[in-house]
Amino acid sequence: MFLQRELRIKGLLLPKEREKNTKPTKAVKTFGLSLDMEGALTARDRVGIQDFVLLDETTETAFLSNLKKRFSEDLIYTYIGTLLVSVNPYKELDIYNKKQMDLYMGVNFFELPPHIYALADNAYHTMLTEFNNHFILISGESGAGKTEASKKILQYYAVSCPSTTLLDTVRDKMLMSNPVLEAFGNAKTLKNDNSSRFGKYMDIQFDSQGDAVGGHILNYLLEKSRVVHQNHGERNFHIFYQLVQGGEEDLLHQLGLERDCQHYNYLTQGECAIVSSINDKNDWKTVKNALNVINIDETDINIIASVLHLGNFHFESNSKGLLSLNYFSPQLLGVNAETLRKGLTFRWIEVKKDEVLSPFTTDHAIYARDALAKAVYGRTFTWLVNKINESMENTNSTRKTVIGLLDIYGFEVFNLNSFEQFCINYCNEKLQQLFIQLTLKSEQEEYEAENIEWEPVQFFNNKIICDLVEERHRGIISILDEECLRPGDATDLTFLERLEEKMGSHPHFVTHRLADKMTRKTLERGDFRLLHYAGEVTYCVVGFLDKNNDLLYRNIKDLMRQSKNAIVRECFSSMDPDSRRRPETVATQFKSSLLKLTEILMAKEAWYVRCLKSNESKQPGKFDEALIRHQVKYLGLMEHLRVRRAGFAYRRRYDVFLQRYKPLCPATWPHWRGEPADGVEVLVQHLGYLPHEYKMGRTKIFIRHARTLFATEDAFERC
Ligand code: ATP
Ligand code: MG
Repeated sequence: MFLQRELRIKGLLLPKEREKNTKPTKAVKTFGLSLDMEGALTARDRVGIQDFVLLDETTETAFLSNLKKRFSEDLIYTYIGTLLVSVNPYKELDIYNKKQMDLYMGVNFFELPPHIYALADNAYHTMLTEFNNHFILISGESGAGKTEASKKILQYYAVSCPSTTLLDTVRDKMLMSNPVLEAFGNAKTLKNDNSSRFGKYMDIQFDSQGDAVGGHILNYLLEKSRVVHQNHGERNFHIFYQLVQGGEEDLLHQLGLERDCQHYNYLTQGECAIVSSINDKNDWKTVKNALNVINIDETDINIIASVLHLGNFHFESNSKGLLSLNYFSPQLLGVNAETLRKGLTFRWIEVKKDEVLSPFTTDHAIYARDALAKAVYGRTFTWLVNKINESMENTNSTRKTVIGLLDIYGFEVFNLNSFEQFCINYCNEKLQQLFIQLTLKSEQEEYEAENIEWEPVQFFNNKIICDLVEERHRGIISILDEECLRPGDATDLTFLERLEEKMGSHPHFVTHRLADKMTRKTLERGDFRLLHYAGEVTYCVVGFLDKNNDLLYRNIKDLMRQSKNAIVRECFSSMDPDSRRRPETVATQFKSSLLKLTEILMAKEAWYVRCLKSNESKQPGKFDEALIRHQVKYLGLMEHLRVRRAGFAYRRRYDVFLQRYKPLCPATWPHWRGEPADGVEVLVQHLGYLPHEYKMGRTKIFIRHARTLFATEDAFERC
């Protein structure tokens, strides 16, 4: 396999090997491009077209009808050029196995039916031949299949890349990071039984041989509020249920836990601790095994049991709560129980220059307790990501290239939307903006810059919404921060008033007071509504200030820093080195991390997977046309298709193109002594390109259809 990969990397795959790889020519004939070229309408009528670019019409109706046709045949993938559209089938399909992986390995993009493996393989192949960095952006709303897609891609690289024994361990660690992070960062929501409640960007590092040699994960804003509060029908993070239901008797005894989720306040609010689609007991075994592989001692995560105990701690100080506190404080958190109890029920206040202890009200005490539970969990999560990164670190300093995989929480709208949805949906706006910049906008700008004749395609640019949220001094986040920092009487409602003052007539912002008569009926007084690119979302301002501040009382923080438990100490001392300085607010930190992410991504070559949710009820094979139409619209798929169809599927700098294909023409081989552009012209004339098939820009050649390049690549491989 190694030899074959080597050859392919060098573009020298032998015809014989190619034959082997492209064995299912039947599939190609039935579903592939050749079918359209041959005009075999019967098959086409049944299974649709595998690349929307080849559709006769570019109407939304034709688009949906093609998608539906394919979906009904369990063909969930369709291309728009090199973009992959995926529709969640909500059932296991027999298309993800070693046989399929082998099939797609080293095969040109359009040779086989569309597949996530084809995209993964092409990103990999391009990275190796051009020695540059790539990323795969997987987007779509909650439950559309992003996390599943990212797992399939990672599996593909883990199984099909060449390896040595040493690298097998890196690969295992990469794979095993998934169940661990899912256990700690995913939860059942109303939209998805395994919803990602954090953002994840993972770089997979390859050496020049194509071996996966290391990995690195960046994590984004975990939805910590879930630790202490779950809406009806939702759960806390999976790991708690796994531990309580799957943990061994000894372990539970040691942690002072009962084998009953109902016993814990933090696990029962959603009234759905047991879910039929989830097997917590088995998942616990998987997680334990995975922890092992990534060198994390199982006992290192004991700390999270303290969260469950904290949730049961009541301030009316019944003896049961105190008993529990006496147990878990020293055992799990490594702190003195009495000091912690005081920290959670009293605070120091200044009276006539003296500091005296004043008891909290019950509400305050609950707030302090919940803040600690969230901090313990959130910081353990970050600690875990750091540990995983250490274990996947590539210590070899040779030059490497990366493929980044981005899997982030999808756009979501619930009946009640709060600060968490605001952050998640803002993040999705940013990703949509990135997509627009990298595809629709830059594509059209490139044609202009390259002097290629072009009929502009209109599209909705969501920059206006990104600005509304993030603009300095004027955006929602700035106004929220101002209210959070304002001493005195700032509340969630004064925040709303400020928003109304500043946003007034913004076309994407509305509140009860600003709305017209009709809209007002649909808004409560404490709400504001944003008209996102993906639809309207009404946010309730209650809790915005607290969640954005995310404050932990200083005495509790200090206590944790002095813990006897090394991990607790590490978790609490690594942050806020200057405890007197006010830490950045949650939204501002999130905004900066998204800005950095955008920079990381902009420096790489992009591949896109657009996931569509097939229906709201998670039913296998159900194609809800209205729901899908809505997603096709807001994801800008029609605009993308129009740009693709009007434009050119492939473009390369003259020097790069010439360097690769010069062996195909006697006049350019082995050296072309003139301008690269002239060399390319000679080369493509020799290859018989017709005038309408390509255009010569200022610095690049533009090729209209992928199949033209495909034929050239074939000739190259044969030569
Ligand atoms: P979120 O934004 O909430 O994290 P998501 O887009 O990551 O959502 P997934 O968790 O990937 O959604 O998918 C939701 C569920 O849909 C999966 O648990 C699985 O049951 C089903 N599913 C998704 N993709 C596939 C697929 N390719 N084949 C079979 N089932 C799938
Ligand atoms: Mg997900």
